[in-house]
Amino acid sequence: MKIDMHVHLEEGPYSNRFFKKTIKSIYEIEGKKDKRSIYDMTEKSELFLKRMQEGDYSEWWMDHYLKAAIKNEVKVVGIIDHLYRFYEAKQYYKKYMDISKSKDGKIQARWLNQVMWHYIDDFIHLVESQKEKWASYGIELRVGIEVDYFDGADEELKNLLEPYEFDYVVGAVHFNDGLMISNPKLLPTFEKIKIEHLYETHYKTTELAIESGLFDMMAHLDNIKILGKVDELQLLYLYEEIAKSLKTHDVVCELNAGMRYHTKLKEVSPSKKFVQIISRHGVPFTTSSDGHFPNDLGKYNKNMRRILRDVGVDEIVGFNKREREYFSLTGEDITDKHMGTQSNKNENEETPTYS
Ligand SMILES: [Zn+2]
Ligand SMILES: [Zn+2]
Repeated sequence: MKIDMHVHLEEGPYSNRFFKKTIKSIYEIEGKKDKRSIYDMTEKSELFLKRMQEGDYSEWWMDHYLKAAIKNEVKVVGIIDHLYRFYEAKQYYKKYMDISKSKDGKIQARWLNQVMWHYIDDFIHLVESQKEKWASYGIELRVGIEVDYFDGADEELKNLLEPYEFDYVVGAVHFNDGLMISNPKLLPTFEKIKIEHLYETHYKTTELAIESGLFDMMAHLDNIKILGKVDELQLLYLYEEIAKSLKTHDVVCELNAGMRYHTKLKEVSPSKKFVQIISRHGVPFTTSSDGHFPNDLGKYNKNMRRILRDVGVDEIVGFNKREREYFSLTGEDITDKHMGTQSNKNENEETPTYS
């Protein structure tokens, strides 16, 4: 059973790469060939214009994800957006992110300004409005949010999220001491700090996030490795602590393929060793592509299910209205939900090369 609980509709920065990936994604989903002709280029520019006019919060754009889900036989799809994309969270980020007058602060302030331009209600409304349509193709659609946790931000986050009805809330640690770990422009600063210290800080924040009780699942637990790898033997005690905490506070662990294709690391998160320790503690898992474009949907799902099977996990979970749904990894739906009844309407279309 393929489920993908971490899919984004869009996320800047709005660079030339965004243009390229958008077109590549649409072409792949539509089964179009890059003909390299002048007419083809005109079509590409028209498509991109259409994409920008429709926006990411549109049925037209979501239909590309629906097609991808059908092609890849993903049966549960969770669309999420980052809290930092929403105006409602402006004060929150201003308080906890470094947006000072320092060099890094200015870089981050500019970035926040570039990516924050939506309202939460619009997002929930869009995804909710598509659920029925997706269900008619045998695909369960869910709506979630990926929330940056900062040390001690529990009360503010609780108040921020309270008015909204998500199917699930994902906790994430993307910042280390107020600086975003995945922003390459901040690397010179991180390189001045001892890597072990960055790991300690990361897992301390992660533990607080788990304990906060705000999150149904935690995203990409060891994404800190993007800043440099450390011998895992040194990290085992941290893995144990996180695993224990997930179990105690009943939080689901995500297996996230994002690092496999967004970064040079070419591995999923968390590492197999970490997954092994978490599974020993009996923590439930889910699978995620961390896709940012339609053709990312379901990426490396088979690979992740294999990792889970290898460590003895035989079921994964999804979420519906903050309740868990359980799915067998052997292909059997172990809840009494009946899914995938409709025939695959796009079965003649090309199947993407990943799985
Ligand atoms: Zn993330
Ligand atoms: Zn994400």
